[in-house]
Amino acid sequence: MPMIGKTRRKCWAEVALLFCLLEGVAFAAMPESSNPSELLARADAIKTVDNSAFTKLLEQLDKNSSSLSDDQKWNLRYLEAWEVAYSGEVVKAKSLLEAIIKQTPDNAIRLHATAALVNILGFGHHYEEAFAELDQGLDSLPKVTDKNARFHLMGEASQLLIDAGQYDLATGYADQIVADYPNGGRNRCIGMYMKVHARFLGGRMQAQDPLPQQALETCVKVGENLVADGIRRDLANFAIQQGRTSEAIRLLESSYSNVVAYHYLELTSEYDALLAEGYWKANDIARAEKFALDTVDIATKSDFTQPLSTAYELLYQIDQQQGDLREALAYHEKYMEASKGHLDELREKALAYQIVKQQVDAKKVQVDELNKQNQILQLQHALEHKAVETSRLYIALLLTVLASIGLWLYRLKRSQLRFMRLARRDGLTGIFNRQHFVDEAEQALRYAAKSMRGACLILIDMDHFKLVNDTHGHIVGDHVLKRAVAVCQGHLHSCDVFGRLGGEEFGILLPECTPVQALDRAEQIRSAINATPSEESRDLTISASFGIASTEQHGYELRKLLAAADDALYRAKRDGRNRVVMSQADDDSASTHASQGSRQPMSNSARPEATCSDTAS
Ligand code: GH3
Ligand code: MG
Ligand code: MG
Repeated sequence: MPMIGKTRRKCWAEVALLFCLLEGVAFAAMPESSNPSELLARADAIKTVDNSAFTKLLEQLDKNSSSLSDDQKWNLRYLEAWEVAYSGEVVKAKSLLEAIIKQTPDNAIRLHATAALVNILGFGHHYEEAFAELDQGLDSLPKVTDKNARFHLMGEASQLLIDAGQYDLATGYADQIVADYPNGGRNRCIGMYMKVHARFLGGRMQAQDPLPQQALETCVKVGENLVADGIRRDLANFAIQQGRTSEAIRLLESSYSNVVAYHYLELTSEYDALLAEGYWKANDIARAEKFALDTVDIATKSDFTQPLSTAYELLYQIDQQQGDLREALAYHEKYMEASKGHLDELREKALAYQIVKQQVDAKKVQVDELNKQNQILQLQHALEHKAVETSRLYIALLLTVLASIGLWLYRLKRSQLRFMRLARRDGLTGIFNRQHFVDEAEQALRYAAKSMRGACLILIDMDHFKLVNDTHGHIVGDHVLKRAVAVCQGHLHSCDVFGRLGGEEFGILLPECTPVQALDRAEQIRSAINATPSEESRDLTISASFGIASTEQHGYELRKLLAAADDALYRAKRDGRNRVVMSQADDDSASTHASQGSRQPMSNSARPEATCSDTAS
């Protein structure tokens, strides 16, 4: 134990209390081992309690560093940086710790290094830097599950926030520590100490507050007497504030020798100052003066401004009371100076906290702003994407509608055309029906009249067709009609107009045709019909009679042409059928221009040239 006491003394005396408290692990008997991870754990455990053994372990680990895993190497680097800080080389330690924070992939090591860096920055009064580092460490706290690393950083956070007067925030981290260690132990003890300290300094301690007693019990139970003495200091201070002077003196005196034995000078000077204050209030001037002078002795060396200010104030009051005004004035000046120094220190810490908080807040606002802008951009993008999709959809819809309308119009047109064709055609033979024949023939005649070209109309009537029907049946009659039409079509030109005028009667208008040409062509058709053998019956001979009227004799009016051709046809019938008769204007001698089946048709050389193409479709 003496060895431990000695190393602890160094710790309390020369570096910040928390640097040792938060790093220290109870010096349990760790097994001797050559396993690197056990060596590292052992080194970590003894670094404050047996620092020389710790440095030897580090040397040993360093020699065999090639056999360490990456994680173990980072752990070793951290312990080495810690040792540099512990030995007082603060500048070097700072750069080592910063490098670790920047480079290590191990979150727990980064948190330990951040906590150590925050500590030495605070200890060196670089509060602004300390808060900035702390803030970064706290940001990564939720990602870290390693309880020791969390404890280390949250302990530093709590202490630094207490220093800056941020007691609620400090209590928050202390609460987290206490929650992380529900079953007692030194870390819970330290967490509870932080809570008590923040409560007292924040002016929220109550006379019957159970927390300080619970904290004391927790710490005494694990042998953390120094921390327990810290709690007693706050309790005594509170008792003095409450006018319970003798209770405060009793509490302080009971653990005073213990505190002195630790050589933790800051706590010693605080005890001295409180005892001086207590005895002053208890009117024990001699003791008050003694403790005040002891306080000055320690506090001036280490610049502990708060106990120093208390001590000088008391010495000034004591000398004033004793009438030593010169001394009193001198102490008063020192009191003012120490008090100003203390207040400046407090102000410096509080200001540093506020500056960093504002920087962090401003950064957060900036980040929030950027996030919002980002969100807006993303929304805009999504909106544009949607708009493009929607317009594509509209276009597709429009095209579909247009295509449907087009298809519908096309089908409508097609069926219209079909109906029109049906309305114009004869159902049995497929050629023009009477009405359409009339329309087409009139149009052709109008054109012929305009162009001063002649045209002829032929009327054809099947001979004795009633007899055909009666003899061979109506169906045969139909076939005969169709065949006769086919024969006629074989002799038509493209510009000829051919139609069924009714029953077994047909008309052909021959544009650009002279009467001679018409006669010739009628004769050809007649003989072709007459020559076509019947498929249905051998004894069925078909013939037809033809009447022709020309525009030369009867003008271009269809009605007149029809009447004239009908007359000629009538004559053909009357004259024995199966013949062609040309009508003559106002002349009864149409038959003189007639041809008959028994006669020879005109010779080819006598046939006039047709102006339309030779065959009709
Ligand atoms: P004509 O030589 O004097 O012309 O004697 P015809 O028997 O041909 O004359 P009529 O006018 O007395 O008879 C015409 C016949 O044609 C009567 C009718 O039954 C027949 N007919 C009319 N249209 C059709 C048809 O579409 N199919 C059939 N099979 N016969 C028809
Ligand atoms: Mg007839
Ligand atoms: Mg007939």
